[in-house]
Amino acid sequence: MQNQSIDERAFYRGVLALLALTAFIGIAASVLHYLEPEPELMDLVIPPSVALANLALAIWLRRRPKNILRVVYCAFGVAIAALSLPAWYYSLHAAQAPDILLIDIFPPISSFLIILIVLVMVMLPPRRAFPIMIAAWVLNAVPILSYLLTHKEELWAPRGQEMFMSYGLAILLLLVLLPFQHRARLQLERLQNDNSHMHNLAERDALTGQYNRWGGQQLLDDFMRSETHGSIIMLDIDYFKLINDTHGHLIGDSVLHEFAARVSGALRSDGHLIRWGGEEFLVLVIGIAERDAFRVANRLRHAINGGFFHPVGKLTASGGATSRRDDDTLESLIARADKALYEAKLKGRDQIVCD
Ligand code: GH3
Ligand code: MG
Ligand code: MG
Repeated sequence: MQNQSIDERAFYRGVLALLALTAFIGIAASVLHYLEPEPELMDLVIPPSVALANLALAIWLRRRPKNILRVVYCAFGVAIAALSLPAWYYSLHAAQAPDILLIDIFPPISSFLIILIVLVMVMLPPRRAFPIMIAAWVLNAVPILSYLLTHKEELWAPRGQEMFMSYGLAILLLLVLLPFQHRARLQLERLQNDNSHMHNLAERDALTGQYNRWGGQQLLDDFMRSETHGSIIMLDIDYFKLINDTHGHLIGDSVLHEFAARVSGALRSDGHLIRWGGEEFLVLVIGIAERDAFRVANRLRHAINGGFFHPVGKLTASGGATSRRDDDTLESLIARADKALYEAKLKGRDQIVCD
């Protein structure tokens, strides 16, 4: 769940809440029907089945949040079955027994179909929503509307008219709304894409693809606020100016790109690489203490001096590593790493100094 965006988390929570709520409604309806003096078979079967199915789906979602779309489709399948089964059962029952009227025996569930269709429309992309909406409508409306149209005396009764409106015209209106919802959704998606693209542009360095100074500052501020352990390593390429002078600025750029890729490749998920400026990089490793900082820094150093950088050959980097202390501010932490880096340079480069 940690890597999910805010939208995905809101969707996950919404689906979970919906499943819990429908399971609760199923349980409440089951209790009510069991207390009824002469409950119908459908009333005894459908509500507890819906409650059980939705509870099972909620547990599945809690265990495998990545399966959220499958859970949503299954939940819609359960809802469509739970609404269309009574529609067919009561219509056929009333059609076979002339003394039984559908308008007397059909439970007041037409509003659930409208809610279901609205949920499909809001939760799924239009291409997926449309066939599910049509299936839900057809499976429910066919038995009810064909019964009412062949039993005019029931159609003209107030309950019959209400059922005709709910299963016919009201749902047609919802289908007409679909293109508007489609356009609004597309616009929202475009805005979200633009937003994440802009955010990426703002926090990433164009040359190396790593965090830039601004993005890094946000990471470091978050780290300082979190009050967790952690270390920073200030890395600086040795004699980089010579590479620019000898091979030109473009080759210098490609070396910087390759340098960042190798350091980033040597980091684990708790490490973040920030281009702090020019050919100076800051590595933030969250959760590690003093002695591990030296080990990680040397691993990064070996990822650089152990390889060959085309076309300049061998490359080395020096580093200053330090770990967060109780009274540290971000400035004092960075100042210590800077000082350690300066010492590493003075001592002859291609080494790590810890402070
Ligand atoms: P030292 O071992 O003391 O670090 O020596 P150095 O030559 O690496 O140090 P110095 O800070 O003198 O040089 C850094 C050079 O990095 C100078 C600058 O032109 C170059 N540089 C900074 N940003 C870029 C960039 O984006 N692309 C290229 N090609 N060069 C850059
Ligand atoms: Mg340098
Ligand atoms: Mg430098």
